[in-house]
Amino acid sequence: MSRYDLEDSDLAELLVGEPSYRLKQLHDGLYQKFSEVDELSVFPRALRERLSLRTELDSALEIVTELSADDGKTVKWLFRLHDSSEIETVLMHYRDYSTVCISSQAGCAMACTFCATGHGGYTRQLTTGEIVEQVVFAARRSRESGRRLDHVVFMGMGEPFANFDRVWRAVERIVNDLGLASRHVTLSTVGLVPQILLLADKPFQVNLAVSLHAANNELRTSLVPINRRYPLEVLVPALEHYFARTHRRISFEWALIAGVNDSSPDAIELASIARQLRAHVNLIPLNPIQTDAPFSMEGSSPERVEEFADELRELGVNTTVRRTRGRSIDAACGQLAARTPIQIGRRAPKGSK
Ligand code: SAH
Repeated sequence: MSRYDLEDSDLAELLVGEPSYRLKQLHDGLYQKFSEVDELSVFPRALRERLSLRTELDSALEIVTELSADDGKTVKWLFRLHDSSEIETVLMHYRDYSTVCISSQAGCAMACTFCATGHGGYTRQLTTGEIVEQVVFAARRSRESGRRLDHVVFMGMGEPFANFDRVWRAVERIVNDLGLASRHVTLSTVGLVPQILLLADKPFQVNLAVSLHAANNELRTSLVPINRRYPLEVLVPALEHYFARTHRRISFEWALIAGVNDSSPDAIELASIARQLRAHVNLIPLNPIQTDAPFSMEGSSPERVEEFADELRELGVNTTVRRTRGRSIDAACGQLAARTPIQIGRRAPKGSK
């Protein structure tokens, strides 16, 4: 639980006996000023003291470590939650904007072969408040360094669509209570079809990113196992439906793995799906993780990444290459693993117990 799980009616209950304007003050304190209870200076001291005894208003996120890279422009936090599960959150400052990459689950059950989070397994769903609090935390840090947090991507640990209701409630709070533009919020999914269809019917629109990584079923199933349940012939029509209904351009994420999905035929296969959906392609140079996968897990060379991008562009596909942030602190795409990275794929030497 987090104080950002509390509804206004819960906040009102904490303020029983107080004048009614206190509710708005408390709400503003939480969602506009990003305050801790003892910082709510508009409240009389006695009230602050009374509220600070209420555990419902405690912060849900305890900082375990804070690491920074890229000259301080990327910061990664490892947070411990009340039940000791751990999540990571990454804040990235760019020249003109700042983006926070948040987790939607502790761990992840999708088990994508090239992703560190997937190797660590699944712990539990995050609550709406635990999701929102990551954004508030990053917004506060941004403000302290004279920046304004304006983008949120659900690209941290977890599969947001496997926690759809809480994630959507969090999106509503991010947009309605924190005041971020819905078009600056991006949900990224491995391709859970029922939730893609639900998203198509939501009253306001966010960006949808789909982790494609392969454009034929055999390869995609080997990289993203959920493809067995929602293969391309099911996923692509769902995305067509989404696009027809929302007119929002979808983006495909494609982590380039040398010799696995970076050949010219791969580009042709991808281009055919991307063109059909008028989707944008975001190429991610594979970030290193430790794995015992049976095939090469080297990222494509920077030259090959550029060539692949050019091949797609020549095939008429709008393509960008994602700028990699935070590799040195294991904060880049697919590297978030709470405290398990050193164990990933490390088998005990033969003969040892
Ligand atoms: N579960 C959601 C949200 C995570 S987003 C999803 O898969 O979309 C994280 C993105 O980083 C996904 O596109 C994921 O496929 C990608 N990724 C995972 N491991 C990676 C790695 N080692 N290098 C580059 N990208 C990776």
